Amino acid sequence: MRTGYVIALTFLVLAASVRAGPAVTVSVSPATIAQGRTVAVTITGDLPDGTLQVRFAGRTWPLYRASDRWRTYLGTDPNTAPGARAIVIELVDHDSVRVLARRTITVRGVPFPRRTIVFDPETLALLTPEKVAEEQAKVAVGLRVLEPAQLWSVSFQIPLTGRISSPYGVISIYQGASHGWHHGVDIAAPEGEIVRAANSGIVRLAEPLPLSGDTVIVDHGMGILTFYMHMSAIDVTPGEQVLKGAVVGRVGSTGLATGPHLHWGVRVNGVYVDPLLWTR
Ligand SMILES: [Zn+2]
Repeated sequence: MRTGYVIALTFLVLAASVRAGPAVTVSVSPATIAQGRTVAVTITGDLPDGTLQVRFAGRTWPLYRASDRWRTYLGTDPNTAPGARAIVIELVDHDSVRVLARRTITVRGVPFPRRTIVFDPETLALLTPEKVAEEQAKVAVGLRVLEPAQLWSVSFQIPLTGRISSPYGVISIYQGASHGWHHGVDIAAPEGEIVRAANSGIVRLAEPLPLSGDTVIVDHGMGILTFYMHMSAIDVTPGEQVLKGAVVGRVGSTGLATGPHLHWGVRVNGVYVDPLLWTR
């Protein structure tokens, strides 16, 4: 009777340890962020078969294998709700989803400013639903296949030096209405100034777009992309590998622009973050 009890107990403990799954270590950095910042998530340990994914801010994020660890970058933007936010690591095995770990970060709200822009009628005429759809379709084609491996090294460099004429996150007002928030930074510079790749990667798009003008998009791997827009010339071609500092184009004012500047954007797994925070 007593022996049976011990055996039953042992079985229960064993069953519990199997159910708890493998031991994984999850590091999340930083633990407190302002909207527009990126969070790095690294998972190490005895990982089981199946697909790992991260849930954060109401969506699923991919995880990328990097030697003996898994890693991803979570982007935040003005739409990321401030407060304590959960980061949940899940294991997807066939139809079942199991929680492996849970962490919490604090998102601090940023009072992003507003700016009123006056476009001349000719420039504003570009802003039609057809042109928006055409641009989105071209970008979607360019970004169909992305590199899972990390191609960049250390910090990103600013594509050109110049005054930041419009910071990240600013809410744009034109024609008396709000047209969303600024997805990058505008760097004012003379027409023709050289624009350099912020880091190493693969060119995914290099063509004129209806609204963003002459545009280059570089894929740095692991869901990190940089955008160079409104240029007067493009110096790279899709599929080309570029090193950090390579010339990708020249400053211009093509597309929906009021003067010569570079619009520089950083997209982290689908979310446009503050590019300047990637240069520090
Ligand atoms: Zn811009």
